Amino acid sequence: MSEQNLRVLIIGGGPAALTAAIYASRANLDTTVIAGYQSGGQLMLTSEVENFPGFPEGIMGPELMDGMRRQAERFGSKFIDADATRVDFSARVKKVYVDDDVYEGEAVIVATGASAMWLGLPSEEKLRGRGVSSCATCDGFFFRGKEIAVVGGGDSALEEALFLTKFATKVTLIHRRDKFRASKIMQDRAARNPKIEIVGDTVIEEVLGENKVEGIRVHNFKTAETKEIALDGVFVAIGHRPNTDIFTGWLEMNEKGYLVVTNETETNVKGVFVAGDVYDYRYRQAVTAAASGCKAALDAEHYLEALAGEPAEILTAQNW
Ligand code: NAP
Repeated sequence: MSEQNLRVLIIGGGPAALTAAIYASRANLDTTVIAGYQSGGQLMLTSEVENFPGFPEGIMGPELMDGMRRQAERFGSKFIDADATRVDFSARVKKVYVDDDVYEGEAVIVATGASAMWLGLPSEEKLRGRGVSSCATCDGFFFRGKEIAVVGGGDSALEEALFLTKFATKVTLIHRRDKFRASKIMQDRAARNPKIEIVGDTVIEEVLGENKVEGIRVHNFKTAETKEIALDGVFVAIGHRPNTDIFTGWLEMNEKGYLVVTNETETNVKGVFVAGDVYDYRYRQAVTAAASGCKAALDAEHYLEALAGEPAEILTAQNW
């Protein structure tokens, strides 16, 4: 088996997948990226990225993703702009299906990411990127001196609310119950922060505004009161869902569906590696996703190098 024949399949289209593709194709591996219909990942939903190193003036999310993709293509990565629909990791040669088409590789890097959960309001969707955001680290800076709301009752919501007090003059934390899921320490911090007003038993019925957020209409279950609050931004922090459905039964997951790594980027299946938000629910940054994409590609490369040295009967074995 020559090195050129060793194939890597990368599933995903965000910074983890694209960085893995840059490294894998530069290592002379035959690299195919199954990038999804919405190639580019969560950064396609943000506007300006100001915290990715190397862009002192900031860069638009889609432009950054386009640059990463072109960089991967320059070294020979091939792209399939469709969603992987099924996998078969039972043998040494792994299979990834896109409907009836099958792609095969000796190594697979899973970088399918996670998707922010949204409230599901049409007005929320209309104003996404125009004051409605799911990422305080990405967009908080744009709300300097403004009033905003954060929705959710978990650690993410409280962490975002606390972080946003660095910019906003007031943060209204809206939670659908009167008890928080967040850790006690986060609750205490939020309660002590004079810029945070906690509004429990309340849901957002509508985000108000035509071209940008101008307020919210909320409903309180306990008092049955409905009212409007004028503000400039809404941060939805009700959790993320990892995109791991197609790996059920193949890869180990935690109770929330995030993939479990056994050693840095390795999974319970030999030759299948992971990168980015699909396993990392803690940092969730473009730069950390890119870094783990690099690690996964290097680990895949080492795995394939070792594989190339195996005797032919092992390489051709059906069962792995
Ligand atoms: P989470 O713990 O699942 O909390 C989601 C919150 O959003 C819950 O309070 C939930 O309300 C609310 N929610 C869900 N759907 C909603 C809807 N449709 N409308 C209104 N509210 C809705 O998610 P997370 O906060 O993202 O945390 C995920 C994991 O990461 C957790 O294990 C967390 O501890 C961890 N994390 C840790 C840190 C840290 O340690 N610094 C920071 C961030 C996250 P209910 O409570 O009523 O269900």
